[in-house]
Amino acid sequence: MALKALDIFKLLPKTNCKKCGCPTCLAFAMKLTTQKATLDECPDVSEDAKAQLSGAAAPPIRLVAIGAGAAKIEIGGETVMFRHEESFYHPPGIGVVLPDNLDEDDLRARIAAVKALSFVRVGMRIGVTVVGVENVSGDAAAFASTVKAVASLELPMVLIARQAAHAEAALAECAAARPLIHAATDADWQEYVRVAKSAKCPLAVTGPDLDSVAALAVQVRKAGIEDIVLDLGAGSIAAGVEAMTAARRLALKRKADGVGFPCMAVVREPDPYQNVSDCCAYVAKYAGIVLTPLSGPEQIAPILTLSQNLYTDPRKPVQVEAKLYSVGAVTPQSPLLVTTNFSLTYYTVQSEVEASRVPTYIGVIDTEGTSVLTAFAADKLSSEKVAAFLMSAEVSEAVSHRKVIIPGYVAAMSGSLNEDSGWEVLVGPREASALSKYLKTVWQDT
Ligand code: SF4
Repeated sequence: MALKALDIFKLLPKTNCKKCGCPTCLAFAMKLTTQKATLDECPDVSEDAKAQLSGAAAPPIRLVAIGAGAAKIEIGGETVMFRHEESFYHPPGIGVVLPDNLDEDDLRARIAAVKALSFVRVGMRIGVTVVGVENVSGDAAAFASTVKAVASLELPMVLIARQAAHAEAALAECAAARPLIHAATDADWQEYVRVAKSAKCPLAVTGPDLDSVAALAVQVRKAGIEDIVLDLGAGSIAAGVEAMTAARRLALKRKADGVGFPCMAVVREPDPYQNVSDCCAYVAKYAGIVLTPLSGPEQIAPILTLSQNLYTDPRKPVQVEAKLYSVGAVTPQSPLLVTTNFSLTYYTVQSEVEASRVPTYIGVIDTEGTSVLTAFAADKLSSEKVAAFLMSAEVSEAVSHRKVIIPGYVAAMSGSLNEDSGWEVLVGPREASALSKYLKTVWQDT
């Protein structure tokens, strides 16, 4: 259970020496309660106090690493229920689960399909970060051989074994890759603990409801496994999301034991549309790993996109550098349009310009990462700012004409921009989707 700041303060040295960077021991205690400091920042705390405080100072949800090396992912470690309260920090591992009963050609094709699940969105590469292998055959040798083939993907793996002995056989092919072993139940957890301990791998635990999974996690932790993942997604999507939400809330409030671990779901919904929808629900609330049998790019991309959107810091809008960009083989006569430095806006405009095949300059104005209308309303996209950009050396050196295309939503600034810059101002379309047609028709006629 959570300790209050005063309880923690009583166990600190109370010398107010400031070595921890806080003015007083009480201030340090208050930071500990909100996980804004760690106990090791006080060099003088006694071993006895450390033992008593370790629980209070530990993050409410354990950070668990799956995999090894460059591909390793860390899940859990979250501190809030809602992203806008602070931020979500550790994106869920999203990946495909492959069965171990495929013939060699099918397996090779599925592995290739998983490898291709990588996309560029708003200037960042996103892709599957984990892969599962499911022991549907019930055969240890088939499981081990599929795991060996899938290990070539060099992604963190989840070994979904029928029994602990099959996980042990598969580990012979990939133990150094530190896969997540799935999943201990009330009936066989001692065997799974033995296998996970000997391979030094994290272990998933599962059960019919949150209470039983949490109770099992406590037993597993007492048996010496610290890196635990809770599989709460075995029932309906409603039950799964409800259980994960309850686990997150109880963990953050430190109201129950055995819930302070990341959660996971293997989404088995047969309808592909519903499956994608379920995966998205788990990404939002509050899975650390989401596995699906789907491997179509059109199925995986929406799940990755949602995760990318949720796991950015809401306090820092994703921005691109404010400068003059060129798309295609531009010349001094190429059109110049301006937009804001909000990443999503810039990359949407850029992709539409690319699609038009009209070489174009895009002038990006620093609007502190806000979109066109927000920036205009907040005076971050003003005629003075755009005029200063148009008169800058980088524009003068690149562009010989004096015509600028502004977003349709800020048509109101066209008069003042013309006065401030002396440039002819053309009002572009409101939506980026109409840019391609605009560049091919309106611009060509100017
Ligand atoms: S370093 Fe320790 S003893 Fe010194 S002020 Fe901080 S908490 Fe107190």
